[in-house]
Amino acid sequence: MAMADSKHEAQIPAPEPAKPDAVRAPAAAEHLRAPEPSRSDKPEPLLKAPTEPKQLAPPDVVTFRDVSKSFGHGAAAKPALHGINFTIEDLPYVGELITIVGPSGCGKSTMLRIIAGLKPHFPPTSGEVLVLGKPVKEAGPDRGLVDQKYSLLPHLNVIQNVAFGLKLRGVRRSERLDKAAEWVKKVGLDGCETKYPSELSGGMQQRVAIAATLILQPRILLMDEPFGALDPGIRLRMQELLIQLWNEQQSTVFVVTHSVEEAVYLGDRVFLMAPNPGRLVDVLKVPRPTVPPEEYRRKPEFINFCQGLLRRLEDESPVGHGMKV
Ligand code: ADP
Ligand code: MG
Repeated sequence: MAMADSKHEAQIPAPEPAKPDAVRAPAAAEHLRAPEPSRSDKPEPLLKAPTEPKQLAPPDVVTFRDVSKSFGHGAAAKPALHGINFTIEDLPYVGELITIVGPSGCGKSTMLRIIAGLKPHFPPTSGEVLVLGKPVKEAGPDRGLVDQKYSLLPHLNVIQNVAFGLKLRGVRRSERLDKAAEWVKKVGLDGCETKYPSELSGGMQQRVAIAATLILQPRILLMDEPFGALDPGIRLRMQELLIQLWNEQQSTVFVVTHSVEEAVYLGDRVFLMAPNPGRLVDVLKVPRPTVPPEEYRRKPEFINFCQGLLRRLEDESPVGHGMKV
């Protein structure tokens, strides 16, 4: 994993390997793992079979190689991202949840939209972006973005908005409406199926946008401040829903957040970004919870980790980092 300057790593207490555990592990996938052959009942062959096919390693999920992005031209060009390098490996049966923190304007949305292949952020000005081993050329069904502005289609009601992506994929009407109804329930909006976006609060619209993306089960889920407009109770519920889905689908998830606590609670790794120019200053591995969420959030190691991260943000962006615990 290539990463940026790690000079402050020592300030974060006790980082542990990002290992799935009893709370976060994808239990459903456990049985898919091939059992370890027992050494004693498998004698070593004297001669190895000459033509045993080699298992190819799966391609990395996302790779950034020296990616920079400027908006504008010539003397007016303004760098939004500078020299970003990272690799998200494919972890079989696990997936990974990456949280991204940093002050406004440090390029978080730009980074997500470059992965998504969306203009005007994509293509980058220089550098290389690979998704599942291939250079990104445009948007694709392997990536789903829940945009910061949770853009819904104003002339469609809740269920039609949630079902819209399935319609584009040619899924039969009854099937897509049934599925959409399930998702509307999952995000706690049952009873609002026939309402239009203009009749919903910001938080409700945000949940419709989340359902509309999750229903498509993208391999890579990109979420730009997805829970920002939600009440604290609903926010916790949506975080749990995200973790549950991530476990079920083993997708790779990127979540931009302004909450340090959310970044540490959700993330296997936290990308720490800084502005002027927008850059990735560190990647922190987060110890995995071993106890239920409410208990975990009260544990000293969790609180210490959050405070350490907040200090790092203050060090990297002393004025107005805009983050909160
Ligand atoms: P963040 O999401 O971290 O707040 P952004 O990725 O939205 O940051 O923006 C990074 C920088 O790029 C900012 O200086 C912003 O003004 C600039 N920027 C973002 N989108 C555009 C755009 N479409 N045109 C011009 N400048 C942009
Ligand atoms: Mg943004």
